[in-house]
Amino acid sequence: MKGRFTSKLEYPALLAGAFLLAMAASWSDLGQRVDNDAYDFLFQRQPAPQGEPQSAVLALDDASLKDMRGVLGLRDAVAESLELLKATGPRAVALDVIFSEPGEPAVDARLEAAIRNLERVVLPCDLMPAGKSWEDPLPRFRAAAAGVGHVHAEPNSVSREILLEKRAARERRWALALEAFRVAENGRILETPSDVEVAGVVIPASLRAQRALWIRYLPPERPVPEITLGELRADPSKARRFAGKTVFVGSTSQLVARDRMQTPYSANSVPMPGVVIHANVYETIARRMFLTTVPLWATVLFAASLVAAAGWVFVRFSGWTAYGLAGVVLALAHLMPWAAFTQGKILSFMPGFACAWLGVSAAASYRYFVVRHRMLKAELERLRYQQAMHFVTHEMRTPLTAIQGSSELIGRYALTDEKRKQIAQLINSESKRLGKMIEIFLSVERLSAGLIEMKREPFSGFDLMQTCVDRVRPLAERKKIGVTLDPNFQAPLEGDRELMEYAFYNLLTNAVKYSPKETEVSVYARRQGGEVRISVQDQGIGMDSKEVKQIFQKFYRTKRAEESGEVGTGIGLSIVEQIVTQHGGRIEVASSPGKGSCFTLVLGGAG
Ligand code: ADP
Repeated sequence: MKGRFTSKLEYPALLAGAFLLAMAASWSDLGQRVDNDAYDFLFQRQPAPQGEPQSAVLALDDASLKDMRGVLGLRDAVAESLELLKATGPRAVALDVIFSEPGEPAVDARLEAAIRNLERVVLPCDLMPAGKSWEDPLPRFRAAAAGVGHVHAEPNSVSREILLEKRAARERRWALALEAFRVAENGRILETPSDVEVAGVVIPASLRAQRALWIRYLPPERPVPEITLGELRADPSKARRFAGKTVFVGSTSQLVARDRMQTPYSANSVPMPGVVIHANVYETIARRMFLTTVPLWATVLFAASLVAAAGWVFVRFSGWTAYGLAGVVLALAHLMPWAAFTQGKILSFMPGFACAWLGVSAAASYRYFVVRHRMLKAELERLRYQQAMHFVTHEMRTPLTAIQGSSELIGRYALTDEKRKQIAQLINSESKRLGKMIEIFLSVERLSAGLIEMKREPFSGFDLMQTCVDRVRPLAERKKIGVTLDPNFQAPLEGDRELMEYAFYNLLTNAVKYSPKETEVSVYARRQGGEVRISVQDQGIGMDSKEVKQIFQKFYRTKRAEESGEVGTGIGLSIVEQIVTQHGGRIEVASSPGKGSCFTLVLGGAG
């Protein structure tokens, strides 16, 4: 019963283990990396929808800054850019260069005037390195601008998301692109726990996820339009391309290279300047190209159902059908994130992937190793049972034939009294033998099915042994085998005397059966701890250690026993073992081929 119970739980436990392992793997560093790579892979294959860009970049590149004292001339360059933009009528302008310290008074005045003139300018701010306060633009610039937005990027190697909201020193700032969109639309930012709304655009960025927004970068072949300050200077008519758009002004200079990040497109190639990333965030918002994350519970549920499906497949089906369906489970794990992505939903790749592979491997191995092993074992048992049945029916046929023949004789012929008595005796002894055989055969089944009631009463081990030894003596004498019983045999026992007698008698008959003529069988008892050890030792044919392991199986007989010519069924010891275990004891066997065996019953003892 116990065995069956554990084996019922074994499989679900194995699958649960596979699930937990897969979850742990998913949230490990390696798992996160695989997730990110899968995201980038899908991202590249599902480009953002076509459409007119709503923003543009005015790039301050190295060439534009060359004649302007490099970084020192940046303030001048930005002022000049804003002046040039004024003529084109942009929807809004967002700056990605922070001027937090005063510069030359004349230049600062020029810049302040340019900002004020444009009316719709958003200035950047950033978190100070410690993250506790804001690095803000000079108050004079800020007063002239329409808004301030943060340009903070989380320290990830690839910029996939942006946090729309950041707090420092109790002051909350929205991301530069969001602020630019608010100014461009002349709207207000409304918040709920699950999203942020600006001018009728609902941005899925929940408070719980720190208002993170997936950036839907435009593909490299149709990027956000970009013009350098140098190009604009050379051909002012190019400014027309900025009309009606929100323009992001910032440095793409190699000198400010730290302001470049990897994107899902740029892996292994040139990182993208920060200003272009902000323009892409703006496109994501303005064109509502939102990607939303599938909730954690749904991800876990999906992964768990893959493990369950893998488990079910290998229980319900076998062979190629099972492997084929397992392939479907694996395919689902790979395709679902892709299918979700086409619907704008980000389903983490790793949990499903790890769960499907681990689940399928665990279920398939279990099926292969454990179930197959069990099937083979059951098959072997069936075969042995069949052989035993053959043997038993063969054995039974002999007494049956004798009984049949004898009874016919009595019926058919007039026999002398002497002869009739002889035949009657034969019938009696043969039918007794038959009865005994059937009884033994049935007791195995009944004992193993728990149908035999066991008594619990104290009795003397010595008396019991004495009875058994007396019974076996005639058999032993035929082979001139001496049976000695230790006179100091002290073994008060408790249990079912009748069953115990059966067990001891079996050990004794075996000792006599499997010993050559003129040897000794000795029976003795020892007390050890709270236990009584009763041994039956012979000088018989013995067994090797491999055989010892098998003799308690039903119908097993050693080769040596078969060759000895002694009749047997191989059932006795399996009954003995069951009786002893029902008494809470065990059997120990020490044996060596040709030298003899010692069977020891270890029992609890009484009093
Ligand atoms: P049976 O004696 O009817 O064959 P058992 O179940 O009593 O069946 O014993 C199983 C087998 O264990 C025997 O066939 C024999 O090979 C081996 N065996 C049991 N007792 C002894 C012993 N005392 N010496 C050697 N072999 C033994």
